[in-house]
Amino acid sequence: MSSAPKLTIEGLRATIEGKEILKGLNLEIKGGEVHAIMGPNGTGKSTLASTLMGHPKYEVTDGAVTLDGEDVLEMAVDERARAGLFLAMQYPSEITGVTNADFLRSAINARRGEGNEISLIKFIRLMEGKMKDLEMNPEFMHRYLNEGFSGGEKKRNEILQMLVLEPRLVILDEIDSGLDIDALRIVANGVNAMRSPERGFLIITHYQRLLNYITPDFVHVMMQGRIVKSGGPELAQRLENEGYDWVKEELGIVDETVGQEDEFKVPMNTTAPRY
Ligand code: ADP
Ligand code: MG
Repeated sequence: MSSAPKLTIEGLRATIEGKEILKGLNLEIKGGEVHAIMGPNGTGKSTLASTLMGHPKYEVTDGAVTLDGEDVLEMAVDERARAGLFLAMQYPSEITGVTNADFLRSAINARRGEGNEISLIKFIRLMEGKMKDLEMNPEFMHRYLNEGFSGGEKKRNEILQMLVLEPRLVILDEIDSGLDIDALRIVANGVNAMRSPERGFLIITHYQRLLNYITPDFVHVMMQGRIVKSGGPELAQRLENEGYDWVKEELGIVDETVGQEDEFKVPMNTTAPRY
């Protein structure tokens, strides 16, 4: 399908291990649009990404998610991928024994469907071209998926997957973390090259820096498991200059995090990686 996508999220609530993390989230993303979700650590951003993709640990308790009117929540993870959803994870997994080439070719073929598999020669040409764009060493093709990759190499590899899978709705979860300024520019170029009326983006980021390279159409602030404020690129700029405190003051929010018992409340920036 190559028509413009429309992802609609309505009143989404989700729990993990019995704790409610998403508390009624609304968002609509259409083809051609780039939405940024910004927010302090522990406000539910990665939970949103994982829930949209169908990670089995997260249980949706209320609300609806549709892509072009189709019920996403009813779809298995692979069906979501085939429908064109894609997530570049904040903490990509390492998979020993599966090479990057094996993984990508399987993913491409799963997306293309039976009888329409990509030929080996076309696959190799495609990989070579995209890896060159991302300034990745060709040897990464034959390494086990993400094994021993640096943080920045993993992020480039996520973008490589995005480039070859050509998803319709791209979710990037803190793709900027672990990237130095050159890598950030390369990754941003990759994303910008993919901007199209037939593709929508949800870019989750803690820092405004990435948005200097990828100009969003809409900026949303996430706190307490929901979107509490939305605006244009100027909102990201203000957050960069002034931090998040003014948003909390304006909305009367004392603690922006979600899902932690009070006795376990930890200061910002101490949320441990989960993958
Ligand atoms: P963000 O991406 O905004 O930093 P997360 O969605 O990662 O926030 O986390 C929000 C809350 O959900 C945190 O309190 C976190 O500890 C909790 N949480 C998320 N995933 C898990 C998990 N797999 N197991 C237990 N708690 C989780
Ligand atoms: Mg996160």
